[in-house]
Amino acid sequence: MSAPRKFTGGTLVLATHNKGKVEEFRVMLGNRITKLLSAAEVDLPEPEETGTTFLENATIKAVAGAKHSGLPCLADDSGLCVDALGGNPGLYSARWGGPKKDFVKAMNLVHERMGNTDNTAAAFVAVLVLAWPDGHTEHAEGRVEGDIVWPMRGEHGHGYDPIFMPKGETRTYAEMTMEEKNKYSHRGRALEALLKKAF
Ligand code: IMP
Repeated sequence: MSAPRKFTGGTLVLATHNKGKVEEFRVMLGNRITKLLSAAEVDLPEPEETGTTFLENATIKAVAGAKHSGLPCLADDSGLCVDALGGNPGLYSARWGGPKKDFVKAMNLVHERMGNTDNTAAAFVAVLVLAWPDGHTEHAEGRVEGDIVWPMRGEHGHGYDPIFMPKGETRTYAEMTMEEKNKYSHRGRALEALLKKAF
């Protein structure tokens, strides 16, 4: 195993085409970086997510992004894990939205498959991987426990935000401002852990 490594400043590539995520990271990274480039800005191809864990998929994306751009690259893999669905959609959270990334459809599918169960427990899980062009990686995980609520509530955020309510809250992610959501966010927690380790 190679020695731990830290990001020493400058430009960071973010391996995502999701504008919501780019904005979340921009807020959370603040002045630790000089410039944040999105996947679109450095023309990153979207590698196939062939991994069987969040860590494997995030590593595939970060390593491919760092090699393609020649810059340190941060990638995440995340998803909504619903207890009553055996952890699904989990790794397949994006795929449940279908090619049109239709999350209203995906949320309806979650609701439908949960049926009448009393077990509404769920968690948002995120794994972040920071990769360098030579293939070195650092990673961290974040998790937020909560419940699935129905019907959908709120207008903010993205993805499954309207049906996820973190423990101890009375509002869904989609009813919070981005700053409020970042306090709970699985991605925020993963980033906090990664910042301690690799920034
Ligand atoms: P990824 O881009 O492969 O990490 O896909 C994760 C998928 O999980 C996204 O497309 C969303 O559907 C869902 N997801 C991850 N994080 C969040 C979040 O913070 N809010 C809502 N949905 C999320």
